[in-house]
Amino acid sequence: MSVVNAEGKGNAVSGLSGLSGLSVAELEELMVRDGLARTHGLRLFKAVHQVPHDLGESRGMLPPPVQRWLDGPGGLGVAVVEEVRETESGDGWTRKYLLRMGDGQEVESVLMGFPGRFTACLSTQVGCAMGCVFCATGQMGLVRNLEAGEIVAQALHVARRCRELHGERLRNLVVMGMGEPLHNAEATLKALEVLTDTRGLGIGPAHVTLSTVGHVPGIRRVARHPLRFRLAVSLHAATDEERSELVPVNRRWPLREVLEACEEYSELKGERVFMAWTLIAGKNDSEEQARQLAALLAGRAVQVNLIPLNPTEGFAGGAPTDERVEAFQRVLLEAGLPVTRRQRRGIDVGAGCGQLRSERRVGR
Ligand code: SF4
Repeated sequence: MSVVNAEGKGNAVSGLSGLSGLSVAELEELMVRDGLARTHGLRLFKAVHQVPHDLGESRGMLPPPVQRWLDGPGGLGVAVVEEVRETESGDGWTRKYLLRMGDGQEVESVLMGFPGRFTACLSTQVGCAMGCVFCATGQMGLVRNLEAGEIVAQALHVARRCRELHGERLRNLVVMGMGEPLHNAEATLKALEVLTDTRGLGIGPAHVTLSTVGHVPGIRRVARHPLRFRLAVSLHAATDEERSELVPVNRRWPLREVLEACEEYSELKGERVFMAWTLIAGKNDSEEQARQLAALLAGRAVQVNLIPLNPTEGFAGGAPTDERVEAFQRVLLEAGLPVTRRQRRGIDVGAGCGQLRSERRVGR
């Protein structure tokens, strides 16, 4: 690991990523580099990742040499995420956070409450290069990747608000916010390694779902990662022709390649893959299309997750009626596929799937 280069600026670390993207081992190395005791690395890690207090509030508990280090030229801050706005959904179960990064770029993160559990939805990029036609983030284009520390900082922010608001621990993460996580796999996986460390936030890897539009090299990488994260793949169509229309990146990684990579994941991890299908009225909601999907997935270790389309400004399509959704679901169930309907949350505040976007963009 190379934490610091000759100018004292980080390779793995930058002013944007700060301390929050560093593992215990990296912090220990940083301490030793600056003449401090190795053991301070773990204390610093715990101080950065504890809930409900942030480092600013708890730094007084750190040993004086570490406090001096934090103030000195070698000291790094926690990645800056400043809350611009918190928006609560009408049903009170969802809160959306507009967060500003150190360079002024903004992303959205979401806290979703379900009976007995709380989940954070994290962003991995400002915008997205994948261009899915019905997605507000895709309509922005890609502005930049987030660094590991910025992804971690979102989770810490949401976890602290979860504790303050509900007195509960955040136990689940879905990486389904802005961006294609596997198009920024290095930072995303690094952030998840830090967030699952039991000495910090300690989210169980089985409670982390990585969602991809079908980034084949990324899926193969997740399959080989030592931690066993859950994988969700956005399918939306069962033929290449129809899928390329909705998900342009299908031209690069067609269905056959995506399904092969998923099979590799299932074999190596012993886990099924969640296949997300956003239902768009008149586009991909017919019973014939359900039969095509059932044929495509027959015999595979998968579960289908149906999501009636959430509205966005840049796409004219709408969600099918409940009857159409039920008919579609029935075809899949009769074919023996496990199917769930995703609970829609936060649609009224633009916090649903495909609705997240920044309000302002700074440079490119
Ligand atoms: S759905 Fe996901 S991958 Fe597709 S454009 Fe939106 S953020 Fe990107």
